[in-house]
Amino acid sequence: MSWDFSTDPDFQGQLDWMDEFVRHEIWPLEAIWHELGLDGLREAMAPLQQQVKARGLWATHLPPELGGQGMGQVRLGLMHEILGSSPIAPLAFGNAAPDSGNSEILALAGTPEQKDRWLHPLLAGDLRSAFSMTEPHTPGSDPTQLQTRAIRDGEDWVIDGHKWFSSNGSIADFLIVMAVTDLQARPSQRASMFIVPRDTPGVEILRDVPTMEHPWEQFGSYGGHSEILYHGVRIPGESLLGAEGDGFVLAQQRLGPGRIHHCMRWLGVARRAFDMMCERATYRHVHGSLLAEKQTVQNWIADSAAEMQAARLMTLHAAWVMDTQGARAALLDIALIKFYGAKVLHDVVDRALQLHGSLGYSTDLPLEQMYRFARAARIYDGPDEVHRQTVARRILRGYQPPADEIPTEHLPTRREEARERFAHLLGALTAND
Ligand SMILES: Cc1cc2nc3c(=O)[nH]c(=O)nc-3n(C[C@H](O)[C@H](O)[C@H](O)COP(=O)(O)OP(=O)(O)OC[C@H]3O[C@@H](n4cnc5c(N)ncnc54)[C@H](O)[C@@H]3O)c2cc1C
Repeated sequence: MSWDFSTDPDFQGQLDWMDEFVRHEIWPLEAIWHELGLDGLREAMAPLQQQVKARGLWATHLPPELGGQGMGQVRLGLMHEILGSSPIAPLAFGNAAPDSGNSEILALAGTPEQKDRWLHPLLAGDLRSAFSMTEPHTPGSDPTQLQTRAIRDGEDWVIDGHKWFSSNGSIADFLIVMAVTDLQARPSQRASMFIVPRDTPGVEILRDVPTMEHPWEQFGSYGGHSEILYHGVRIPGESLLGAEGDGFVLAQQRLGPGRIHHCMRWLGVARRAFDMMCERATYRHVHGSLLAEKQTVQNWIADSAAEMQAARLMTLHAAWVMDTQGARAALLDIALIKFYGAKVLHDVVDRALQLHGSLGYSTDLPLEQMYRFARAARIYDGPDEVHRQTVARRILRGYQPPADEIPTEHLPTRREEARERFAHLLGALTAND
């Protein structure tokens, strides 16, 4: 019997250090990081990254032989909860998306040469990467319909296709591109992944798609979502990542832990919004009392606390299943947290924003930015509906139609069966009457 909700003291010491560090060294940068631009941000981050490295907390998502700590998903989850409190904190810890997920793929499937050329500089922060799978004209939620093709030509591969929402594509040094390599194969084995340097002839970055996150047209900034044309992009045979047809398997391996980290980061965001909501309730006086004394507000605070606790325990449980039984065993738990965590994030931020009224809606507070961020969480890494479908399908596998379609719990049927089975007791009762 080993249910245990405690964190070992040494690791708790690391978490406490991270919490202080993120609050005192990184939060202050948030207010000016857009002004700093990419180079300024990099300069501001360099000394912070040194401190993180000295503390042994750099790129902890990777195995020890690659400079990570091999610490498992529960510990990583607890770290991501702290990192999620700031959109730029992951940069200081060498695990910002999409570089973190891409480094996991390279660690998992890269050849020694690919690791030397792409993974090590990526980890050192000397290169940036993007993951290029989603296409404007096929549904990202059903990647078996991908149209981007990679065709062998002698020793090379030639890629043709149209992608979008390749996050950080416009500032990336290389892209990991998912393309169909065998149209005749089973749907789950049709696609493969390729490493494509961004300056390869034929890679045309059309734009960073304006979104709710940044509604104005801009190009080449951190966090942009690029639309990219690949016209006859010729790359050498050794650009294939993993085996031919492994694209979906690798994508799944990248997404499982990634979803746990997302959910824990969302809790970091939700916690910050929650703290703002509680603080506001303590001093805003309306219609004869403080907001803190209104029952609706008390309900929001209590509901938010309960929902965040539920999401946190569900997410840590998913991480624990992954650590103890492997990624496959955690599929249901991960699908559960992906849509539930996104909803909790959305609802807590929404309540906090509402409680601040016009101030919450304004850009004088980070709540409107958190709200836009929360909306995207319901779409990327699989929309809510797909995860709900996964959960429901897996749960339903454990059920069968009852005999004659009479519900198992049908009381008249059960009563009849019980009368038959316990006839001797009923008989004794009648005899005693
Ligand atoms: C902020 C952000 C960052 C992203 N970054 C990247 C990236 O770096 N690289 C990359 O390749 N992609 C990225 N994406 C794309 C993302 O992965 C896709 O948007 C997502 O997979 C959904 O695909 P789609 O947009 O084509 O929507 P579709 O697949 O067309 O789905 C649209 C809607 O249809 C509904 N739907 C879908 N399936 C079902 C179902 N089975 N049952 C019921 N309803 C359903 C859902 O409501 C869904 O939202 C990013 C997206 C966002 C928003």
